[in-house]
Amino acid sequence: MILSNVNKEISSGTTDSFRSFSKNLTLFTENSAQFIDNPVANMSFDSVPKDLRGLRACLVCSLVKTFDQFEIEGCENCEDFLRLKGNKDQVYDCTSNNFDGLIAVMQPDDSWVCKWQRINRFNKGVYAISVSGRLPNSVIREMKNHNIPYRSRDTSTR
Ligand SMILES: [Zn+2]
Repeated sequence: MILSNVNKEISSGTTDSFRSFSKNLTLFTENSAQFIDNPVANMSFDSVPKDLRGLRACLVCSLVKTFDQFEIEGCENCEDFLRLKGNKDQVYDCTSNNFDGLIAVMQPDDSWVCKWQRINRFNKGVYAISVSGRLPNSVIREMKNHNIPYRSRDTSTR
């Protein structure tokens, strides 16, 4: 009987069931944002995405955060040479919204996945498995000047 109700609702297009689903999803994201905004819980959550929408991945280290987080806090791993803080253009140039797969990392130095992904020396956080896009040549040059090797994070074609 329940199943037939669901079928009826699905066949009648966008209905209450879908609306309540999306409402629950919104509630979920609001609740998790609230949890992360909590100052006590906030201590080591700076590098975790605060929203599920508008996510971007760093082209150098593949850390995933929202655009706003990159703009406000920069990249936890690359800020020294990327200088994303307060620079929208730089955030657009050095991060990409086109990425695949997510890895949540608690102990990067003790994880074979992180070693495999070459992120074992980075901070804990959420990382993409593959990031599409190209770092501007000027940034690659600057990294070279600082003896920082640059490897593309795009593994989708390999
Ligand atoms: Zn980075």
